[in-house]
Amino acid sequence: IGANLRRSAASFPDRDALVDRAGGGCRLSYAELDAQTDALAAGLLDLGVRAGDRIGLWSPNNAAWVLTQYAAAKIGAILVNINPAYRTHELEYVLGHAGVRVLVAAPSLRTTDAAAVIAEVAPRCPSLRRTVLIGGGEWDALLTPPDAYGARRLAAAGASLHPDDPINIQYTSGTTGLPKGATLTHRNILNNGFFTGELLEYTQADRVCLPVPFYHCFGMVMGTIAALSHGACVVIPSPFFDVRATLEAVEAERCTSLYGVPTMFIAELDHPDFHAFDLSCLRTGIMSGTPCPVEVMRQVVDRMHMARVTICYGMTETSPVACQTRPGDSLERRVSTVGRAGPHVEIKIVDPETGETVPRGSQGEFCTRGYSVMSGYWEQPDKTAEAIDEDGWMHTGDLAVMDDDGYVGITGRIKDMVIRGGENIYPREIEEFLHTHPDILDTQVVGVPDPYYGEELIAWIRLRDGAAPMSATELRAYCAGKIAHFKIPRYVAVTDSFPMTASGKVRKVELRERGAALIG
Ligand code: ATP
Ligand code: MG
Repeated sequence: IGANLRRSAASFPDRDALVDRAGGGCRLSYAELDAQTDALAAGLLDLGVRAGDRIGLWSPNNAAWVLTQYAAAKIGAILVNINPAYRTHELEYVLGHAGVRVLVAAPSLRTTDAAAVIAEVAPRCPSLRRTVLIGGGEWDALLTPPDAYGARRLAAAGASLHPDDPINIQYTSGTTGLPKGATLTHRNILNNGFFTGELLEYTQADRVCLPVPFYHCFGMVMGTIAALSHGACVVIPSPFFDVRATLEAVEAERCTSLYGVPTMFIAELDHPDFHAFDLSCLRTGIMSGTPCPVEVMRQVVDRMHMARVTICYGMTETSPVACQTRPGDSLERRVSTVGRAGPHVEIKIVDPETGETVPRGSQGEFCTRGYSVMSGYWEQPDKTAEAIDEDGWMHTGDLAVMDDDGYVGITGRIKDMVIRGGENIYPREIEEFLHTHPDILDTQVVGVPDPYYGEELIAWIRLRDGAAPMSATELRAYCAGKIAHFKIPRYVAVTDSFPMTASGKVRKVELRERGAALIG
């Protein structure tokens, strides 16, 4: 990863590499980005950081994030991304589990004083030797260009790196349980980012607006690595997602590409001043993380000019992209599928019980193999063995269907599957049906224990403003005759909001627990 940046800096030193619009603003050319990451890498060596040591990075998006990402890679240190929303309990877990030696942290995380949190947690984290606050005196000292001796040490550290060295531990979102530490290598990350950029047709003329968090692989691999491995420029609109700052950044920086999860695009399209922004510079981007509603896709193409926007599917363990739509794919394809396998990546859909590949058009577990598959879960060999089989296939736990052209539709998660009286039920299908009810704004269907059937269904429902309360009897009457009797939820629970993970996914585990408690 470091060598890739160094080559770019030699080929086009003066091109824009990074624009951070927050605070006082910061602009770095490729030569400057390379020089500053060299300085930081040498500084980290001076602090005693060696290849394989873990560096925690607890910060929202900013230029320092990208500097630390590349500096760590240049000396083979393992970057541990820490969600800036984490507080004492979660921070302690990650620092301890990954054995973080040096922690780089933003001084303030929204309204929280990072130093105070670290002071509280540090005594319980024996591996932690040093904390550096971004923008503080020690940070500035680390960025001082190395002397001749420092430069020699840096060159020696760089020369001993191997593509299969781990350089990143990224925790999964924790949608289905405790987050796991996916361990990723240079090979995983550089290839995945590079090929994502290839499919987006990035060139040195591109300027990529990244309002998605860097601590997640969406921002750091599909974002920074995809752009910087193509000589494009990374534009950071704000530390945390901010609708107006994003629209302003696209217009002011003439961005050609914009990323987001569907809810971010919805917020941008809904902004009261949306019409005031000239977004005609946009041509592409990525929408990922969760399925995209048809109407949102249509508006992103028509009103945001992103005719070549792509959809990706993947997971932290596959660094992350496994499937991607192609820029020329029809709108229909971009909403009904997540595209086909990325370049040089293998995929197959198997029967979760027998492991046999299922016929095209049939549902099974999505499996993938190739440069993208992580080396394993950090210090959890048993979990690694469950996820990656002897032949190198990553079993994703996601249910999918592949069509005759190799395009894949994601149909649910195995862990969400409910077994009622021996019948396998996929909540996603029921949720989609319930969305046809005019009073239902959003819904999540999960299983709850039942002494007779094993499991029964409960529908958690968010009602539209002004809708009358909904009973189970009413909902069941609505479903009767439209979906199979065993898919009709037995229970209904109305709620204002669903429990969410930090990356914006609904925590069904929690809804199952709450549901079980509710029916008592
Ligand atoms: P955990 O593994 O900790 O339970 P998680 O699986 O949500 O959490 P991530 O690695 O952030 O953690 O997310 C990967 C998952 O997100 C995939 O396994 C899949 O279920 C879902 N996903 C990703 N992209 C898409 C997409 N385009 N459409 C539908 N689902 C998607
Ligand atoms: Mg997962």
